[in-house]
Amino acid sequence: MGKVALVTGGTRGIGAAVSIGLKAAGYTVAASFAGNVEKANAFQAETGIPVFQWDVGDVEGCAAGVRTVETALGAIDILVNNAGITRDGWFHKMEPDQWSSVMRTNLDSMFSMTRPVIEGMRDRGFGRIINISSINAQKGQLGQVNYATAKAGIIGFTKALALENARKGITVNCICPGYIDTDMVMAVPPKVMEGILGQIPVGRLGKSEEIAALVAYLASDASAFMTGAVLSINGGQYMAN
Ligand code: NDP
Repeated sequence: MGKVALVTGGTRGIGAAVSIGLKAAGYTVAASFAGNVEKANAFQAETGIPVFQWDVGDVEGCAAGVRTVETALGAIDILVNNAGITRDGWFHKMEPDQWSSVMRTNLDSMFSMTRPVIEGMRDRGFGRIINISSINAQKGQLGQVNYATAKAGIIGFTKALALENARKGITVNCICPGYIDTDMVMAVPPKVMEGILGQIPVGRLGKSEEIAALVAYLASDASAFMTGAVLSINGGQYMAN
């Protein structure tokens, strides 16, 4: 049996493309989701990828979810921490729940999802942790103080965890996508989108499949020397070094 990969938020958008890409590369894939049961069931029916429901912001839910996936498919070798949300608004108007829900889903989930899988990876001497951050962690964005903060936290998480596990066959890397053609970006008002497109040198949004191809590389044995990396994939919109 192939290695087992778990993709959080793996039923829609970038996560769905990642799940499909990893399955095509020969992995046994599980996709998690939060609440959109209809979409998740349709995804499972279309792709044959089993779906599992829990909230990545819930520490006990994550531990239970990991146990369920491992019982069904075997020990998790590759974890893609992809699930994420936005709750945009200017900081001087931001409500506590806008802050805490984004921290919980986008940043606390790094602990809640990774902690239950990392010991097994260390014992087995192999693991791939792939975290989805954002261009807006690198450059900031109006209306996203909460999101940029959480996504920047993922970068520190990636580097520190990479160091702790470098001698154990485990790599930990982080991808910072620019604007990708998903439901999340479709929620951006058309006028704002026009402005964003004008800032992307390649002149278009990215495709989920373009992120999925990078995830497949990071999951593979070929990427063994890459760890603690922060990879920008954004059509030239922000050239971080
Ligand atoms: P979508 O909104 O299209 O999909 C989000 C996925 O995450 C869904 O499967 C959703 O499940 C799941 N999810 C959301 N909240 C939770 C939760 N609390 N627990 C479990 N699963 C959850 O997002 P995208 O594909 O656009 O984004 C994927 C990741 O990429 C996110 O981390 C996002 O921040 C990041 N990103 C996206 C960019 C973009 O341009 N789209 C740019 C940069 C980064 P359900 O279907 O049940 O709601």
